[in-house]
Amino acid sequence: MFKQLMMTHGIDNKRNSLEILQLNIGKKCNQACKHCHVEASPSRKEEMSKTTMDRIITILAQTPSIKRVELTGGAPELNSNFRYLVVQLKKINIEIALRSNLTVFFEDGQINTPSFLKDHEVEIIGSLPCYTEGNVDKQRGTGVFNKSISALKLLNELGYGIKDNLKLNLVYNPQGLGLPGKQEDLEKDYKAVLLKDYEINFNSLFTITNMAIGNFSRELEANQQLAEYKELLISCFNPSAGNNVMCKTLLSIDYQGNVYDCDFNQMLELPKRPINIINLKSFNEVDNQIIFEDHCFACTAGFGSSCNGALI
Ligand code: SF4
Ligand code: SF4
Repeated sequence: MFKQLMMTHGIDNKRNSLEILQLNIGKKCNQACKHCHVEASPSRKEEMSKTTMDRIITILAQTPSIKRVELTGGAPELNSNFRYLVVQLKKINIEIALRSNLTVFFEDGQINTPSFLKDHEVEIIGSLPCYTEGNVDKQRGTGVFNKSISALKLLNELGYGIKDNLKLNLVYNPQGLGLPGKQEDLEKDYKAVLLKDYEINFNSLFTITNMAIGNFSRELEANQQLAEYKELLISCFNPSAGNNVMCKTLLSIDYQGNVYDCDFNQMLELPKRPINIINLKSFNEVDNQIIFEDHCFACTAGFGSSCNGALI
């Protein structure tokens, strides 16, 4: 249904230029959030090997259109070769954004990670689904809010969110059913509250719609709300957001090196394409068909949603 609806608005399923590569470097996480679409948790062991990282570095060096890599997980910082990967990406002048849960900085062996990130000018995109303790702890676990605030203070002290070369962005996603409100309004609220109550500064807020796959889908199903949520996403379809879906300009790679249209298709294994390729530009010329399925309605509802926030 999604693909047909996009077609009726003149939007095809062809990938355009490749600008961003998302690397999911492992399933391990120090948290186990209710809404997690990748089903990460402390008990997961899967992680990207150094060999796969080296292969990706070689491919990137031969694909000059890709200037930015986004590291995701799990908690990417927990991959045993995380720092090696950052250093290698910097050597070939790739801009790096790290999707961090913020609390990971307080895990064993991670205390120096923020200064390592600063030294390599890694942009941090930190999860903070609300500026109130109750809402954050409900969604992400007891104590997560206070740890996240401590992490943000630490990052500010290092210059993150203050100096131009140290970007600190935050991610909001709604509690339960519902779509995010207007990104710029919410950003103003976040900035005012975090500054007044905690003296915290950050650059931008990214609003993200919850994708009904993984843990969140199971939770909705258990509460008999899955059909209602899916209907909401469909009824809020916005063709302007459809024109800007993130899969038009990125590819996503899993910890084993398989290639997908985005992190969500990766989770659904739609389809798994082994990375036996040496050049992503030529890959895109041969296979530029994005697999659109009905989970995609989460990207086009309301103001739209992507890993970097609203689409319109
Ligand atoms: S949502 Fe993020 S922080 Fe929470 S379990 Fe998943 S990967 Fe970890
Ligand atoms: S879920 Fe993935 S493939 Fe579908 S519209 Fe969103 S980014 Fe594109």
